[in-house]
Amino acid sequence: MSKTCTHLAGIAGVTPSALGCEECLKIGSSWVHLRLCRTCGHVGCCDSSPNKHATRHFRATGHPIIEGYDPPEGWGWCYVDKKFVDLGGCTTPQRGPIPRFV
Ligand SMILES: [Zn+2]
Ligand SMILES: [Zn+2]
Ligand SMILES: [Zn+2]
Repeated sequence: MSKTCTHLAGIAGVTPSALGCEECLKIGSSWVHLRLCRTCGHVGCCDSSPNKHATRHFRATGHPIIEGYDPPEGWGWCYVDKKFVDLGGCTTPQRGPIPRFV
């Protein structure tokens, strides 16, 4: 098992696809935390959320790295290596206030 994540080199500067979880906004569902795909900019929700869209996005696309996104906190997660990764200053600014369902 390798100690370092080799996928960090592949992360891109992305534009978030939506202000909140793209799929949850479409179906009117709520989420707990947001995760941003650093390969394509897909915004999904975390595994504590009912729909786990970020994990589903990884299963569907194989995009390995997501960023903790509400707000950007400087850490990421690699689904392939199952490891937290340090994004340093390389975070993605939010495009606007995050919509919330109450
Ligand atoms: Zn990795
Ligand atoms: Zn979602
Ligand atoms: Zn993606």
